Amino acid sequence: MSDSTAAGKHTLLLTLIMVGMVLGALVGGFSQTEIAIIALLGDLFLNALKMMIVPLIVSSIINGVTSMGDIRKLGKLGAVTAGYYITTTVLAVTIGIVAVNVIQPGAGVDAGAASAPSVGDYSFLDVVRGMIPSNLFSAMANGDILPLIFFALFFGVVMSTLGDRVKVLREAVDGVFLVSMTMVRIIIAAAPVGVFALVATRIGAAGGFDAFGRELSATGWYVVTVLAGLAVHSILILGTLAFFGSGKTPIRVMALLAEPLLLSFSTGSSSATLPVTMKSVQENLGVDQRVSSFVLPLGATVNMDGTALYEAVAAVFVAQCYGIELSFPTQLVIVLTATLAAIGAAGIPQAGLVTMVMVLQTAGLPVEGIGMILAVDWFLDRCRTTVNVWGDAVGTLVIQRILRFG
Ligand code: ASP
Repeated sequence: MSDSTAAGKHTLLLTLIMVGMVLGALVGGFSQTEIAIIALLGDLFLNALKMMIVPLIVSSIINGVTSMGDIRKLGKLGAVTAGYYITTTVLAVTIGIVAVNVIQPGAGVDAGAASAPSVGDYSFLDVVRGMIPSNLFSAMANGDILPLIFFALFFGVVMSTLGDRVKVLREAVDGVFLVSMTMVRIIIAAAPVGVFALVATRIGAAGGFDAFGRELSATGWYVVTVLAGLAVHSILILGTLAFFGSGKTPIRVMALLAEPLLLSFSTGSSSATLPVTMKSVQENLGVDQRVSSFVLPLGATVNMDGTALYEAVAAVFVAQCYGIELSFPTQLVIVLTATLAAIGAAGIPQAGLVTMVMVLQTAGLPVEGIGMILAVDWFLDRCRTTVNVWGDAVGTLVIQRILRFG
């Protein structure tokens, strides 16, 4: 296929995905309820994406590690990746803290009626403990990405020390990777219908435009604060980094990543989007597979700039609603725990709401406060997930540039 035909097909697909999104919003907005057949289409599409996570990340990580050449490169890659994740996450939290202190969305809001919803328990130590799987297959079955990454890295490193004795295995893994990528390409062709169905179902389930409008106006300034923070972080910080990493304008990079960005908004899940992020980063941005196969799966679970920013804004918002003054040290505690909460949140819809409990508890704030942000969370979740995926993809460009891979 010539370059111009490929570009033409890409543009057509993106246009159809956007049309799907708008139509989905309209159908969900006016139907005000979930329509079973449309919900089924959305589930089928989402399942197909999730189905690809295990074969794709395992084969791509093993492949990436074994083609590293010198295994010491992996150490450097790990160090630079960790540096990128931590720096951008802390910057995101800081932007959130500044935004919520300047805009003061909770000033004058009465927290009296809030009651604690049950969102489950969360412990950061459990996340760390789960990093090494006791049973590989149950990690796969549960879609736990971190233990899979650990296993695949370990497997790949050992495999690369065994040379020609495992040649056949290396070729087999390469084959699995190639087939998986091709399957992802086929699944993406269904994205216009999938996105339509997911958006229609979600907005319908939220009660359509009327109910959504009421929820938005009830929490208006809080929503504005989160969105403003996300916009500043995405454009100023990540946009500059995208330019540094690629030499292209941020708008151009965003356009090349439009598929994963639109999908992250439609699915609310970094993990479900991961196969598409991998494909776009490698094929549209030309990122070296050794970098993307390491940075993206890890990023989908631990690097969440949007979630970190949201956690900080939400915690301070809750304090403002309850009229609790936050001292500087307490705000620092929020910065730290929001960072940990984002690292610990899984790349699935509204995982950040669960890890919020830890932020509120550590900062000594009322957990019932979650009740105040619950109604609009599905919408903010979509927005922060898009920023999470944008941060991961930009990371591959920056890290590749720093390490001069490729
Ligand atoms: N839904 C987000 C993600 O998958 C996590 C969250 O903030 O809830 O990236």
